[in-house]
Amino acid sequence: MKLIKDYELVVGLEVHVELSTESKIFCSCPTAFGAEPNTQVYPVCMGLPGAMPFLNKKVVEYAVKAGLSTNCEINSFSRCDRKHYFYPDLPKAYQISQFDIPICRGGWIDIGNKRIGITRIHIEEDAGKLIHHPLNGTMIDCNRCGVPLLEIVSEPDISSPEEAEAYVKKLRSVLVYAGVSDCKMNEGALRCDVNLSVKKIGQSRLGVRTEIKNLNSFAFIRKAIEAEYIRQVNTLERGGQIIRETLRFDTDTGKVYTMRAKEDAADYRFFPEPDLPPIILTVDQIDGIRPQLPELPDSRKKRYSEQFGISDYDADVLVSNRTVADWFEAVAEMSKYPKIAANLTISQLFRLLPADIEEIPLSPAAMAEIADMSGDGEINSSVTKKVLDEAYMRGTSPREYVRENDLAQINDPSVIQATVYRVLSENPALIADYRSGKTNVKKMLMGLCMKLTHGKADPVKMNELLEKLLNSEE
Ligand code: ZN
Ligand code: MN
Repeated sequence: MKLIKDYELVVGLEVHVELSTESKIFCSCPTAFGAEPNTQVYPVCMGLPGAMPFLNKKVVEYAVKAGLSTNCEINSFSRCDRKHYFYPDLPKAYQISQFDIPICRGGWIDIGNKRIGITRIHIEEDAGKLIHHPLNGTMIDCNRCGVPLLEIVSEPDISSPEEAEAYVKKLRSVLVYAGVSDCKMNEGALRCDVNLSVKKIGQSRLGVRTEIKNLNSFAFIRKAIEAEYIRQVNTLERGGQIIRETLRFDTDTGKVYTMRAKEDAADYRFFPEPDLPPIILTVDQIDGIRPQLPELPDSRKKRYSEQFGISDYDADVLVSNRTVADWFEAVAEMSKYPKIAANLTISQLFRLLPADIEEIPLSPAAMAEIADMSGDGEINSSVTKKVLDEAYMRGTSPREYVRENDLAQINDPSVIQATVYRVLSENPALIADYRSGKTNVKKMLMGLCMKLTHGKADPVKMNELLEKLLNSEE
């Protein structure tokens, strides 16, 4: 995004992530997504008087995993607090969250060469879901009440919509690796609030910030940041003032609208939750969780480029999705040519995969076989593509497919030579064109050669010979 009139953009993000525990944070109700409304409820999460919360141990474990994966310090003592607000999606009229002592603090993640600080990560409960019905009015589904959340608060280190997107993508990748959430944005498992202010370049004091609530796609995050940046700059340029407020991004108009004046901490009347003891974590407990974490994307990326000789960019593509990365590692184990496998995965397979892939419908063994046939020169590049398509679409065995359809690469120099001679002798006009400077007819001749061999000849050798003959003074 281009800056307007030397105004810099200062963004911090609050990301809410639903943890993939089987039960809720303060009761044993299930958390499965998509159940019939109000079938996963119980007095605790309904907020009925007298019901007592008890903390789900898994939530603490997952929060520690998230903290360790994002380079945070884990607090050995933290506690839960009541955060009061009155809204129909919250039956208790307060949310159990963590206020002054969160479970994790002081971490960071890297996006490219930039480090984005993480101020804190705390645990809290999700609210219910309001469903606005055209005839029946607004209804509430309490299934989501008490679903465990992590709130991950970044430092205001983000300076463009693109960086915001990269940060959320990286965070999502890390949390999926850590196994704490599936982070499915279309199911609301990852939602993002944007805190944004602007200041003139070189000015050290931050401007007044606004908050845009509940963005649930990368496109909306980008668009909302851009819209609010432009609004703030225009307001200041007209001599107006930015006021602290909470905004809503309208996905239809692409504009931001005032939702309410910004609450201060005092408005929430925080106080320690009297029904829950503090969360005490010993060093042994934390050290016991550490080895449960898998190798994270940054480390894998480094290892892939060293081990397989692939570019940083390619390594990045392979590691960003854990499903793909695990699959690729299995391929690399089985193949003599992991680099070819990496290239095929990125240039060919990704073409065929849906964006939010959860399972790759091609076995690592099949991919390894294709990479090996290609690396050993048994099949040429266009056949490789075809074999990969077949294996992916129909589960065909690559080697068998090549044998049955007689697709093995023609490496025999005498066949290649005979083909090129034949094509040249049949097309004297094209040769004349080439020699008069229309060198792009070579492509046409090459096409004719490949056609004669049913696309199976070694294109590199064929091309070499063709070029040599065309350029020779006969
Ligand atoms: Zn419940
Ligand atoms: Mn929150």
